[in-house]
Amino acid sequence: MVGAHRFESLALSYNLTSMTNLSIAIHGGAGTILKKSMTPEKEAAYNVALQAALDSGYVALKRGATAIDAVEKSVSALEDSHLFNAGKGSVFTADGTHEMDASIMDGSNLNAGAVSLISGVKNPVQLSRLVMEKSDHVFLAGDGALKFAEQMKCEFKDSAYFYDEFRYNQWQEVKGTDQFQLDHSISKEHKFGTVGAVALDQFGNIAAATSTGGMTNKKFGRVGDSPMVGAGNYANNETCAVSCTGSGEFFIRAVVAYDVSCLMEYKGMSLKDACSKVVQDRLVKIGGDGGLIAVDAQGNICLEYNTEGMYRGQRNNQGINEVAIYK
Ligand code: ASP
Repeated sequence: MVGAHRFESLALSYNLTSMTNLSIAIHGGAGTILKKSMTPEKEAAYNVALQAALDSGYVALKRGATAIDAVEKSVSALEDSHLFNAGKGSVFTADGTHEMDASIMDGSNLNAGAVSLISGVKNPVQLSRLVMEKSDHVFLAGDGALKFAEQMKCEFKDSAYFYDEFRYNQWQEVKGTDQFQLDHSISKEHKFGTVGAVALDQFGNIAAATSTGGMTNKKFGRVGDSPMVGAGNYANNETCAVSCTGSGEFFIRAVVAYDVSCLMEYKGMSLKDACSKVVQDRLVKIGGDGGLIAVDAQGNICLEYNTEGMYRGQRNNQGINEVAIYK
């Protein structure tokens, strides 16, 4: 009897593990991304970089990593690519420097960490995780955040590492003016290159991470939505994990990531309906363009944007594995 019972519970636990949904989604920015303005080489490079970032998080999940580990891994991979406006590929500020913002949030306990206005740190998302786990605070900015990064022995890179000719030319177009521009666009105002990831792990926990260089020619210590808990990034096991990209000022005013969560929590909306309501209705009404990626605790993924395209990817253990750029 005892033996039979033991066999049964082993079988049950095996089934539960094998049935666990694993999901991950990433983005590399949204905007006026048109096939006609892309070369085949550039398109291939974006697809390769997106797939590599997606896979690094997914493989970690498969090996039993937490959602937090997975989103950190995927976002670090995107930060290491010069193609996206985060980490290595960060845009130039009005002073010709790079000021990066990043945040991370754990949906299992609502812990969060964020950094803003930091220069020289190779992987801002890793610093945001250290703020979450190794400091008593949620948000560190500027010189203080850099001091903390030194104490934590984060990897620093010199300005040559962050130099990219394309970004430099973007800056030259608006240097010395009061204009600031969103990333890599044809019509400058409408492209964003922030990166992010959301994931569900085998323990049923979800997490989100977002990282950005902000806007070309930004000044006055401008901070966008990406490092702000609830605006550009949010995660709560009860609802969803969200990472945003777009015109940050609008995303802050619409408290986008938290609004998606609230619609699910207080109105009982599905992930899909909540994302659509916020991105296609609320944001549009105040003139905000961009998009977001989201996952819920069941492993549903939503990739929602109100622009021409969004660099994006999604993968789960139910057979979905794709990267895409255009509508
Ligand atoms: N949301 C970012 C910001 O406003 C920009 C982006 O998504 O590219 O800083």
